[in-house]
Amino acid sequence: MAISAKAKRHAAKVVEHLRRAYPEAKCALDFRTPLELLVATILSAQCTDVRVNLVTKDLFAKYRTAADYARAPLERLEEAIQSTGFYHNKAKSIQGCCRTLLEKYDGRVPQDMDALVQLPGIGRKTANVVLGTAFSIPSGIVVDTHVARVSRRLGLTSQKDPVKIEQDLMERIPKQEWIDFGHRMIHHGRRVCAARKPNCPECPLNAICPKIGVDAQGDGGKRGQGDKGKRGRRELGRR
Ligand code: SF4
Repeated sequence: MAISAKAKRHAAKVVEHLRRAYPEAKCALDFRTPLELLVATILSAQCTDVRVNLVTKDLFAKYRTAADYARAPLERLEEAIQSTGFYHNKAKSIQGCCRTLLEKYDGRVPQDMDALVQLPGIGRKTANVVLGTAFSIPSGIVVDTHVARVSRRLGLTSQKDPVKIEQDLMERIPKQEWIDFGHRMIHHGRRVCAARKPNCPECPLNAICPKIGVDAQGDGGKRGQGDKGKRGRRELGRR
């Protein structure tokens, strides 16, 4: 279905407001190579970027190539990443990815969405992070939990499925903005439009945000504790 001119104008305003609010927003994961970003992104599932950066500081000093990960005893790798949580699955994904990189791509990370999503444990979100941030290729828009939530509140999508949300965003946001838009939305979701307490009164997008799904006053949890608690629980229940 064609996107209305009004919807595109609204999306353009969101892009502009985000650019002004967060001109320097970038990926919060530390990395020096595409492989390091791939590994850090796998580790970031259900884990804070701060924790991932702590873990990768030592990890990247010991594991420098895809072969290092591919040949490491799995238990050793698990031990190194344990504090990021879900370490059995993450270690398997990292090792599986690196073995495929060695077999098919000479140990390098391919610069191609179709190839990346064939790697074990890699979906569109991780592939978009790697392509956009390591290679500056606007393959799509990163849709994590922050981008999903903020996009719905801003009226850029009504979808819940990340692939459908990404589709809605790609139809509304100009391609040259996709990479920065993802970084800025994540930044905004973490610092202002938080899941339980969106800080609408101090939000740089307040004037243009329809606040869909946020309570009528959009007070961002700044009122009495009793009300706040109830609203917080209601919102948690919805998401
Ligand atoms: S006005 Fe409120 S709901 Fe809208 S983006 Fe800002 S914090 Fe989020």
